[in-house]
Amino acid sequence: RFQPAARMTELPKQFFASLVKKANAATAAGRDVINLGQGNPDRPTPDTIVEAMKQGAENPQFHRYSPFTGYAFLKEAVAERYRLDYGVTLDPEKQVAILFGGKAGLVEISQIMLNPGDVALVPDPGYPDYWSGVAIAGGRMATMPLLESNGYLPDYNAIAQTNLEKAKLLFVNYPNNPTSAMAPASFYLDTVDFAAKHGVLAVSDFAYGAIGFDGRRPVSFLETPGAIDVGIEIYTLSKTYNMAGWRVGFALGNEEIIAQINLLQDHFYCSLFGGVQWAAREALLGPQDSVRALVATYESRRDALYGALADIGWRPAKPEGSFFCWLPVPKGYTSASFADKLLDEADIVVAPGIGFGEHGEGYVRLGLLTDEERLREAAARIGRLGIFG
Ligand code: PLP
Repeated sequence: RFQPAARMTELPKQFFASLVKKANAATAAGRDVINLGQGNPDRPTPDTIVEAMKQGAENPQFHRYSPFTGYAFLKEAVAERYRLDYGVTLDPEKQVAILFGGKAGLVEISQIMLNPGDVALVPDPGYPDYWSGVAIAGGRMATMPLLESNGYLPDYNAIAQTNLEKAKLLFVNYPNNPTSAMAPASFYLDTVDFAAKHGVLAVSDFAYGAIGFDGRRPVSFLETPGAIDVGIEIYTLSKTYNMAGWRVGFALGNEEIIAQINLLQDHFYCSLFGGVQWAAREALLGPQDSVRALVATYESRRDALYGALADIGWRPAKPEGSFFCWLPVPKGYTSASFADKLLDEADIVVAPGIGFGEHGEGYVRLGLLTDEERLREAAARIGRLGIFG
């Protein structure tokens, strides 16, 4: 009956929807499904943060509209976190924007930067929301392959001249979803040079910024000299503090772009509920031991899973950070056919790599988002398929 605007048809269809449907049907049929397909943290938000939310809910000041660009106390808190964790100095009023989760910022930035036909450089495989943002804006994507042989870093020298001429925006994401790779500081130096030389805005998606394994600390793009002149970082509380449902994220860095984000958001929202902002402040400034415990939990889950996979004769490379495992599919399968086999014959849900782009073919992504026992059980079920060993 209704004819939505043409831009709606540009939106990519949710690739994983059919998989979710199948998994739900299997669960409804009484099968014991182990869902490792999604990126939804399974642990609760720390109590101190929930308590701050209760306090916030009782504060009548927060029952009114929040200031349009959010409360100063929250912008100051995230700036303080960046000072403590990364040694980065940010002006809370000019270099911080509060977002409805990182996702909102990642989509909004294409609205801000792209005229129809302008190019955004996006990683392949990559987080699908970069594409959605570019599509809604009428932009064009030029993909940068992330290959195992290159540590899953893009090769800026391999980007075609025609794309470089129209490029306005560049997305990078480390620790990486889906490959779990981390970026060395030198990569960000190259990124600053590349962005400056070609006049593109660099957007660093730092959603997994707290999660590095084996003692490796993820580097923030903003630590790089010159980064704030050419880019922003998207930071979120979703993974670091198990707050995915709370929808708190930030854009940090370049003042001109932060002003544009605030301007755009001004026309959509009146910032987050004040109680949520108060709780987010507590997350950022309160005790950080829950973050260390979280990283240790993911690391021991990783080791439990990879130990159990080795027992069945499968020895892929271990994740360096994030909470994802990026596993090469066995010979004779595509990412989708292997994912189907795991669901149909082992009741395990994984995300097929092709859902993250053409160069994701040949891999499946598993999330370390259930306890060690279930991860070992998943490995044992895979072992019983008799593919490995
Ligand atoms: N970026 C990446 C790479 C992600 O995996 C996610 C969430 O899954 C996000 C951004 C968005 O997180 P949120 O919108 O919850 O802040």
